[in-house]
Amino acid sequence: MQFANHEKILARWKELIPTTQFTLGPFVEEFERDFAAFIGAKYVIGTNTGTDALILALKALGIGAGDEIITVAATFFATSGAIVAVGAKPVFIDVDDRYQMDANLIEAAITSRTKAILPVHWAGAAPDMPRIVALAKKHGLKVVEDACMGPGGSVFGKHSGTHGDIGCYSMHPLKPLHVMGDGGMISTDDEKIYTWMKKYRNHGMVDRDHIEFWGVNMRLQPLQAIVAGEVLKTVKETVAARSRNVFKLDAGLAKLAPHAIVPSRPADYIETFSLYMIQFENRGKLLRHLEANGIEAKVHYPVPLHLQQAATSLGYKRGSLPKTEQQADRLISLPAHQYITDAQIEYMLDVIGKFYTN
Ligand SMILES: *Cc1c(COP(=O)(O)O)cnc(C)c1O
Repeated sequence: MQFANHEKILARWKELIPTTQFTLGPFVEEFERDFAAFIGAKYVIGTNTGTDALILALKALGIGAGDEIITVAATFFATSGAIVAVGAKPVFIDVDDRYQMDANLIEAAITSRTKAILPVHWAGAAPDMPRIVALAKKHGLKVVEDACMGPGGSVFGKHSGTHGDIGCYSMHPLKPLHVMGDGGMISTDDEKIYTWMKKYRNHGMVDRDHIEFWGVNMRLQPLQAIVAGEVLKTVKETVAARSRNVFKLDAGLAKLAPHAIVPSRPADYIETFSLYMIQFENRGKLLRHLEANGIEAKVHYPVPLHLQQAATSLGYKRGSLPKTEQQADRLISLPAHQYITDAQIEYMLDVIGKFYTN
């Protein structure tokens, strides 16, 4: 169970309560420093959600009406929702066999209106960040990383979210770094961007009585910063435990090819396995079979963003993004979290194996 061991959190809340500093303040700053050190970024600020971190990042780069942002449709709603929230237009490109933005398709999507590339660390894996950053530099574009599922992950030793200009993270309960409700984080190495984002997050305030520009309230709460600070201490362990489970599941499922297709796991990529997703043949029937056998399987997500009702005016149709659509029809998310046992993994492999051999 999450937070089975919450004594430390309660103890730190008892430190906070008498101070009555329930917005920003030293507990938030302490976590911002700890998270910056953890990911290896110069500057971090806490936000109230990952969605707000994405909106704040796009705002900070001056992105707005008429601008195009190259991103993916194989992600959670918020990636695209944030782009639309600042008045810009999402331009979706297809994914590769690891469900990540296909860097080979970026250049063909660039127009005179393109301002930024917004890759997603989908499921906690990483797209080819070095290549994406190099392409952005070549074309004078900014890179905002949706690393909402990324804390604990890296590419060639560089933490997810620290490759581009700005990294965005969520601390929703389903993410590897989570709080007891909503929370988010944003990182950058650029002091000017940091200073602007810090002000915008807090109404554009320079002091209690003055604002420099119009901002909003996107603040991380100190109560949650304390939770995040405690959970941060276990993120590496959690990711390592999930990786061990994934290693066993991958090995078992690879034997079922072509019924099950396990993605490649390139060396030097550390994935958080926020979601453990495998493509399966005959998905609908397998899902019912898993459910009947007490296995909690899910689909993230059956309808990719470009085929959502919200995307109608963007002009995509079925066939626009073949790999994204094929994966949306075939992927199942299986439990691989740190609380499952070897026996449960064996059971899961047995149930799936029998489904295809009977
Ligand atoms: C969770 C998530 C978000 C949104 O984060 P919230 O904190 O729930 O607002 C955005 N993008 C991705 C890829 C996510 O997984």
